[in-house]
Amino acid sequence: MTIIDSHAHIDEIEDLSGSLMRAHEAGVSDIVAMSVDLGSMSRLLKLAGQYRQPKIHPALGVHPGKVQPDTLQTACDFMRSNIKQACAIGETGLDYWYKWVRKDETERQKQKDSFRFHLGLAREFDLPIVIHSRGAWRDCLKLSLEYGVTRALFHWYSGPVEILDKILEAGFYVSTSPSVAYSPESQKAMSHAPIGRILVETDSPVNYKDGETVFAAEPKDVIRTLKALALLKNLDAQKTLAAVNANARTFFRI
Ligand SMILES: [Zn+2]
Repeated sequence: MTIIDSHAHIDEIEDLSGSLMRAHEAGVSDIVAMSVDLGSMSRLLKLAGQYRQPKIHPALGVHPGKVQPDTLQTACDFMRSNIKQACAIGETGLDYWYKWVRKDETERQKQKDSFRFHLGLAREFDLPIVIHSRGAWRDCLKLSLEYGVTRALFHWYSGPVEILDKILEAGFYVSTSPSVAYSPESQKAMSHAPIGRILVETDSPVNYKDGETVFAAEPKDVIRTLKALALLKNLDAQKTLAAVNANARTFFRI
């Protein structure tokens, strides 16, 4: 059976051709490719046409860490005119992880304005939305509910269980990364979430730990995520794979 990497930044991977070949050989059938800004949106649209195996599904969006008020309108126009090629809106959301952001009301407002725009597009075009919610889990949920989006994915969820319950109640999904092998926060959240609502991803090329060593993830590492998740939840690996694949196909309609 094949596997889907539901979140990767393929335009940031150094050896892209090599890593896609390795992903294909490892059984990765599809990659949902996240963009972070205007430049990466246009790179991904090109890359999606260049590679067939694995199949690349571009998601269009501006990452909360990349929001620039003066280019937001241009980004919006670009997304609208290319919306037919998007399988999702993302990566968007809010990031309150750093102390300076928590102290800076203007910065938070700027991120919210951008997130609101993305939520509006997701609703208008009935597209799933991929949400970065680090340190801002509560506000991300609040805004998602306010906009009435029906398909929201809280990517690499490692927040509190109380908010996770509300995310699940709303019918939303969560995903996890190779960090589920060792991060107590990821493990706590993924133990709690039912397998019917979890997707697996790599967030490539993010660095992860493997024992004492650190490696830069590529899409084939989604198998590490799968294995660690199955182990954590004490489930059969094949059954876990069938479940996370079905979740990704339902969520993204791919
Ligand atoms: Zn990401």
